[in-house]
Parts: sequence; structure tokens; C-alpha cells
Amino acid sequence: MLRTRVPACRRASAPGLVSSPPDLQAALKRLFGFDSFRPNQQRIVEAVAGGRDVFAAMPTGGGKSLCYQLPALLREGFAVVVSPLISLMKDQVDGARENGLPAAFLNSTLGADEARATWRELAAGRVKLLYVSPERLAVAEFRAALARLGLSFIAVDEAHCISEWGHEFRPDYRTLGLLRPQFPGVPIAAFTATATSQVQEDVVRLLGLREPLQVRASFDRPEIFYRVVRKLEVEEQIRQFVAAHPGEAGIVYRGTRKAAEATASLLAGSGFSAVAYHAGLEDALRRSRQEAFVRDEVAVVVATIAFGMGIDKSNVRWVVHGDLPRSLEGYYQETGRAARDGEPADTALFYGPADIATLRWHIQRVENPLERERAEERLRRVLAFVESGVCRRRQLLAHFGESFEGNCGRCDVCTGEVTLEDATEEARKLLSAAVRTGERFGAHHLADIVTGTTTDKVLERGHQRLPTFGAGAAQPRPFWLALAQDLAAAGYLARGEERTAGFRLTPRGRLLLAGKESFQAARRPERAPAGRRKSAVGAPEAAAGELGLASAGPAVDAEGLFQCLKRLRRRLAAARDLPPYVVFSDKTLRAIAAAQPATPAAFLACPGVGERKLEAYGEEFLRAVRGYLSDGGCPED
Ligand code: ADP
Ligand code: MG
Repeated sequence: MLRTRVPACRRASAPGLVSSPPDLQAALKRLFGFDSFRPNQQRIVEAVAGGRDVFAAMPTGGGKSLCYQLPALLREGFAVVVSPLISLMKDQVDGARENGLPAAFLNSTLGADEARATWRELAAGRVKLLYVSPERLAVAEFRAALARLGLSFIAVDEAHCISEWGHEFRPDYRTLGLLRPQFPGVPIAAFTATATSQVQEDVVRLLGLREPLQVRASFDRPEIFYRVVRKLEVEEQIRQFVAAHPGEAGIVYRGTRKAAEATASLLAGSGFSAVAYHAGLEDALRRSRQEAFVRDEVAVVVATIAFGMGIDKSNVRWVVHGDLPRSLEGYYQETGRAARDGEPADTALFYGPADIATLRWHIQRVENPLERERAEERLRRVLAFVESGVCRRRQLLAHFGESFEGNCGRCDVCTGEVTLEDATEEARKLLSAAVRTGERFGAHHLADIVTGTTTDKVLERGHQRLPTFGAGAAQPRPFWLALAQDLAAAGYLARGEERTAGFRLTPRGRLLLAGKESFQAARRPERAPAGRRKSAVGAPEAAAGELGLASAGPAVDAEGLFQCLKRLRRRLAAARDLPPYVVFSDKTLRAIAAAQPATPAAFLACPGVGERKLEAYGEEFLRAVRGYLSDGGCPED
């Protein structure tokens, strides 16, 4: 189920969402501007506010911050929030302050004077939320000072970083084990977006949580569209994808630094606002590029997996994988960086046979046999994901032990972009060509043989005399190249030990050749169709019409107004030195564009507008809406 795309500004609460006692509900609206809690939020808020330990696994964008920010206000004293990335702490604190929450941070980036000032504020009781880095908490005097000031509870964000099983283990998180003995009476609440139960057990044990409320939300991300595309000329395919998402922020993941650099320069050379990001760049350059992305100054980051952890930017609208990811967990987390605001987002995963060969080659070089076996298992799961004609969402969720039935409507399988076709006969022709040429050749040569193409290589080896020569002339060469790739991915063909070696048949391949198995090939498009995202979810205008929100005036181009509001947001954010998403999320801007509020009360009714933001931004946004409605002009132009 998709959440309502255009939030209903005038309804008290949307169906399916939890209702709450009036005081919590009122605080939620006043501070955050939200009408209702997301699933699980209220339970967690009540537990934390009531002094109980909590472990909560919720997907990215699930709304974990609110689960500790709201209780921090409800309890006496101040709450400590442990957060792993110093570079993001300032944004988090700015975001909280934008909502009117008295927040501060302490980490190594503060000068001595600033740190002293923060301690004074704490002592004076003027801080309710204190963000700290794990390094600070490792210092005994620091913990003792906090204890003296009377902290209300400790929230550990990105808690999976404490577990070696997690994909983002951080040794400095280990020292958080000291918190429980040092603060025996202080409740601890742990939050993570990692879905595996192994990590959950680790976190509960290592943090010493006592009979915690354990919450696992669904890991479904209904706003994300999943799509797998056959890789041909991947850089050109990526360029087309970016071109189809004009002005939208997105991340391209590449398997190597070199590929990240090359793709970034290609995009930049084609006039897109794109930069590379990987561990080989200087710290300062990495930081400035991340910052530029977060602040909407750069639209596209082309990165290795070094990029993305803890980035709270909520308006990432698409994620592309230019190479096969190493694990489904990684793929889920990387695509999950899109759409934190709950607005629809697009993804594409490009893959081809060379990816499989590269990953296998790396795996074969892993020395530890257990590690190697794990890596192989991860690759098998990724291949099953990209190859099978089963709903992508169902497969991803099954990976986390969650079941999903029916048509998700938001992946290439469920929307019919991918279809399955019986290709048993064709597969046998190709396998036969491989066997008759000694199982030494790759897809291109095999395709030449079955299509009856007399290349020099064919003639030199006399392959034009094989019975399979020309047996598949009815199908074009790309069909056979793709089929070879599918057979390899599905485990009928395998490559030899060396990277360049040709295909040999696996035992399953021999069964297929002998007519004892059949083969279904997935047919998928060779380019990611553009514009799917919007049509699949419904244009904002249409949705607004259904909800009866467009009554404010003549039918106005809500998309144009949204673009205008985006420009206004960017200017206001820059003037305050804030990331734009901290001012308002895309979802809130969409709601404003649909509701076209004319009064402060109507503006306040839009989701994501609380009292503090009404005061700070109401006037300028109302003026922009008024101007747009009267003459279609935008004050930003
Ligand atoms: P997480 O840390 O779980 O990834 P965040 O706390 O950053 O997620 O929240 C993601 C987005 O969801 C933010 O833009 C936040 O404002 C929004 N959000 C959180 N709770 C609600 C709610 N109850 N209703 C509407 N939006 C919400
Ligand atoms: Mg978070």
C-alpha cells in the first residue's frame, strides 16, 4: 500500500494511521507539523517517555528521530543522542532547532569556547537534546560530567554500528557498552535501519538493554520503484537515466573508484551537475562534495559504497547501480537512501555478465574459506534477485524474513516491464554450440555461430561447418548475447577459472541440453523507461483533485508551483546556512503546492508545518503561492 501521496491538509488523520491521546497528538502537530504517527512511533515514544529500554528496527525514512526527539521534550532533564557521523551532527541539530527543539551537540569539531558555552546551556537546563559522538562518550570524565547534570535517557542512533555482523561496524561504537554500567538507572533506546535478527541480538546484548520493548517495523519501502535493466553501454544508459530525471537529486553507485570518476566526468561533460565521491579522495574534498549534495548545490553524486551512510537528506529522488551490488542487504540500504520523505523515488540496477565474472574473480581471491563461502552465498542471492521473474519487493522482503503477497505495482516485474518467455529451444542451441566448440568460447563467438555469422574467428576454426551454425538465424545477435547472460546467471553456464575464459556447461546445463529441464528467460527493456514514477503514482494534480483539495482556485499547474517552492526553499536555506530539506521536505512542498494555502491557518494545516515553521517561513511561502496563483509567476525567477 502506498501512503497517500498528497497528504490531506484538511483531514485530522489519515486512515490506517495510529490515533493517539490528545496531548501527544497535539505535541506532534505543534512541533513537527504532523497529524498522525507513523506505524510504531507512538508505541516507542510512550515507552521511552515512560522510562523503558527500547530496541527499534525501522527502515530508513521510517521516522526514527521523532521517536527520541519527542520523549526528550516530555521527560525531565536532557536526552543524550549518540550519532556516528560527526559531519552530520550539525545538520541534525539544525533540523531539530528548526522545529523549535532546544538541541545542541558536543564533538571534536567544537572549539573550547563553544564547548564551554554548550556545557553552560546544559547546566542551565536550556538543552533538551544533546547530540554526542561515540568518541566523546568513551571519555570517562565526559560521562561523569553528564551524570552530574542529570540526563533523562540515552538514544543510540544507527545502533547496528556496534555489531560486527552489521555492514557498517564501527569500533568506536563498542565503547557504548560502558553506558549501562555507568548509568544504571538511565533508560537506553537503540535505533537502527538494519533488518537482520543477528544484529538485533547483538545490539540488545552489547548495550545491556533490560527487557526492552523490541519493535521491528516492516522494511517495505513502498515509495521506491525497483527495476533491473540489462547492461549494454552502461555510461550511456546512466546518462539517459539522469536526463530523464531533470533537476532531481540522485546517487549513482559504481563498483570501483575508477568507474565512479569516469561516470562522473561523463555526466559533468554532458552538462549535468555531477561529482565523484570515493575513499580515494582527500577528506576535505569528500566533505565538501557531500555538503554540496546535501544542500542541493550538486544534483548527482557518483560514488562507491563509501558514500551514503547516515546521510539524512530526505529528497534523494533516485538511486542507480551501475554495477552488480555485492549483497542484497547492501542494495536495499543503498536504494533506501532515496525517498526518506516518503515521496516516490526511482531506481535502476544495470547488470551484465561481465559483472558476474568480476565478482566471481574477486571472490575466488578471498583467502578465508568461510568468508569466501559467505561471499558466494551473497552473490547467489543477488543473482537470483536480478534474474528471476519474481516481484523484486517480495524478494527483498523475503531476504529479511518478511513476506509480501500480491502485485506490488512498484517494480519492473509487477508492472509488466519484465515478462517471462519459454526459451528452452534457443537455450539448447546455444549450449550445443558451446559443447561442440570445446566449452572455450564466450558469448560473442557463440552468438556468431548460432546466427551464422562468418567472422574470421569462425572461419579460422572451421566453426561454419558445425550443425548449429546458423541454427538460430531467426533471432538477432543481441538476443543470443542476452540469452548467454541469462543462462550464466541462472547457473546453466559457468565461466572458467580465468577472467577471460569462455563458458562451460554446469551439470544443470547438461540436463537442459539433454532436454530434461526447461528454461524461462526474462525479457526486460534495455533502457529504463522514463516517467514511470509519476504515472505509476498519479500526478499531484489528479491526486489533489480526488481529495477535493484543488478547490482553492482555478486548476493550477501544481508541478510548476512545486518547482517554484523548491527554488524559494533553496534560497531561504542558503540564507540560514541550512540544508534545504531541513527547511521543508519535498513531501511538504508537494502538499503546499496541492493545497495552495491562502491563510496562515491553511499553511499550518499542511503536513510538516509546525508552529515554529509557520512563524519562520509562513509569510514568504504564502506570498509565493499567492503570486503564483495570480499570474503564474514565481518570485524566485
Ligand atoms: P529515519 O531516521 O528513520 O531514517 P527520519 O527520522 O530522518 O527517518 O525521518 C524521515 C522523514 O519522515 C523526515 O522527513 C521526517 O520529518 C518524516 N516523518 C517522521 N515522522 C513522521 C510522521 N509521523 N508523519 C509524517 N512524516 C514524518
Ligand atoms: Mg535517522
